[in-house]
Amino acid sequence: MTAPLGRRLHRLEAAHDEDRRQRITAAGEALFRTMEPAHGEAVSAWLGRPEVRATLCTRGTPLLERLAALEAPALAQAFVLLTMCQVEQGLAGTLAPEIAQVYPDDPDALPVAPCRACGYPMPTRCGRDRRGGLIVLALYEGQCPICGGEHTVATAMRSLDIAEEGT
Ligand SMILES: [Zn+2]
Repeated sequence: MTAPLGRRLHRLEAAHDEDRRQRITAAGEALFRTMEPAHGEAVSAWLGRPEVRATLCTRGTPLLERLAALEAPALAQAFVLLTMCQVEQGLAGTLAPEIAQVYPDDPDALPVAPCRACGYPMPTRCGRDRRGGLIVLALYEGQCPICGGEHTVATAMRSLDIAEEGT
């Protein structure tokens, strides 16, 4: 590859990274605005920890694995995953109090079962199979906070696809 072309590609990549960073920040801020103060403060305190920032920005390891390594509280984990769902899939995001409270109440909950109508990843109690894959143990019974739908899909696959891509 010629040097000028290499430089141009590098510049394109940097622009892409910057654009992505801005979209992640915007999605995170929008999600934050849906939260009640106590939930928002808990998440932002966790996100502000230096080891959390460093680990979340590491490339190459699936996002879910990075969150597990950090022993992320369920609500913080949901915040990060929902932010990435907004960025990667263009889904609407919310952690309105009623839905957000599921996470502190159930430390095994992850936002991975899509609402049948709009795709919002509903809280889902998850376990691991023998190979370490996520399995759905219980679905949230309440309404979808985005569209009011009541049926979620009993599979963790869709959101997991993004989660495994990492950032
Ligand atoms: Zn919905």
